[in-house]
Amino acid sequence: MALTGIEIFKKLPKTNCKDCGFPTCLAFAMSLAAGKVELDRCPHVSETAKAELSASSVPPIRQFSIGTGETAVTVGGETVEFRHEKTFVNKPPIALLITTDMTDEEIRGRAAAVKEMVYDRAGATLKLDMIALKDTGNNSDAFRALVKKSRELCNLPMILMSGNMDSLRAGVAELQDEKPLLCSVTPDNAEEMIPLLKESGCPVVARADGYDALCSLVEKLTAAELKDIVLDSGSRKLKKTFEEQVQIRRAALRKAFRPFGYPTITFPCEMTDDPAMEILIAATLAAKYSGIVVISCAAGENVFPLLLSRMNIFTDPQRPMATDPGIYPIGEPDENSPVLITTNFSLTYFIVAGEIESARVPAWLLIMDCEGYSVLTAWSAGKFTPDLISDFVKRTGIESKVARKALTIPGYTAHISGELEDTLKGWEILVGPREASHIPAYLKNYGSS
Ligand code: SF4
Repeated sequence: MALTGIEIFKKLPKTNCKDCGFPTCLAFAMSLAAGKVELDRCPHVSETAKAELSASSVPPIRQFSIGTGETAVTVGGETVEFRHEKTFVNKPPIALLITTDMTDEEIRGRAAAVKEMVYDRAGATLKLDMIALKDTGNNSDAFRALVKKSRELCNLPMILMSGNMDSLRAGVAELQDEKPLLCSVTPDNAEEMIPLLKESGCPVVARADGYDALCSLVEKLTAAELKDIVLDSGSRKLKKTFEEQVQIRRAALRKAFRPFGYPTITFPCEMTDDPAMEILIAATLAAKYSGIVVISCAAGENVFPLLLSRMNIFTDPQRPMATDPGIYPIGEPDENSPVLITTNFSLTYFIVAGEIESARVPAWLLIMDCEGYSVLTAWSAGKFTPDLISDFVKRTGIESKVARKALTIPGYTAHISGELEDTLKGWEILVGPREASHIPAYLKNYGSS
């Protein structure tokens, strides 16, 4: 049973020290009760209180993994309805459907598409995350063969979809300890399914039509000590599915209604035959609030915008996208090549790196950790100052790679060039252009500067 804010407050140190970022312990307790923060934000809470508060500090939507190893996906764990309140935590895995009635060529084509549809975007990798295998004929031999073949072709976590218990058993046996997501347990097959779930330890999709039936089914599963549950409220119409996603999320977050405190799954693949419409539906449900999305469309021109839309929604609005700090050689630079520095805001990095590439002048680009801020913001926040730049340049070891120690700083920070030259002994500080688009011209004239 979730504790109220006052009940949580009573167990906190009550010193109002503000180390958690809240003005008072009471304000922190209220946010903890609402599932908006986690208990570890308070570094002073006693071990006894931690144990007592652990239930309240668990995210209101259970988080768990599907699959094993590097490709495992994490679902659930969300604590807010709206991204601007904090951030969304785990982007919904997108699963590509493969069915037993597909030809060998179609199956191989889909596995190849999964491998090919990998896109780099502002330092992030966009790709499909799972495959969903569907037993269309309720034939356990055919299903096991599909699972085997798919595993040989693709290493992503799997969703095993069948209305036939023997098929699910065969799929689980084929995958051994991989913990695929089994789809589905229903009010009708629960008695038969629960022993398989307990024995295999696999997560499961609980499917029932309507809130009451779904709630009863989840309670039955949790009474059997099954915890890794994904909710399917049954609808395959966009409007109803959308409403159900919202209601389930609200019940979990606003009312701490435990039977709905699990990630959901939706099936755009079963909602239309039109690939473009399917992707629109998938993007809608990924935004609100599907925990897993299953699609059948395997065309890059459809899948890419879906992946991009998901990336944007699941980017932390409070944390700029950042590139790893370090030395980036562009175009095989040597000891005579120019050295430029900028911040690790991803967009800054990609624009500057792109302009250097287009100049066709090999260069060393130093990317400094400024918590993902752009140049002017980083400077005004005290993260791109002469002292810090100087320390960073020394730590990179760039000195050993160049004969001419000349560092080009962004034009917008021209005013720090004198102080930087005093701090970074032995280096000449050059002021680059203000606009990245002027970098090619600057580099082409570099030898004369
Ligand atoms: S850090 Fe802990 S003790 Fe300090 S104000 Fe926050 S909740 Fe209270």
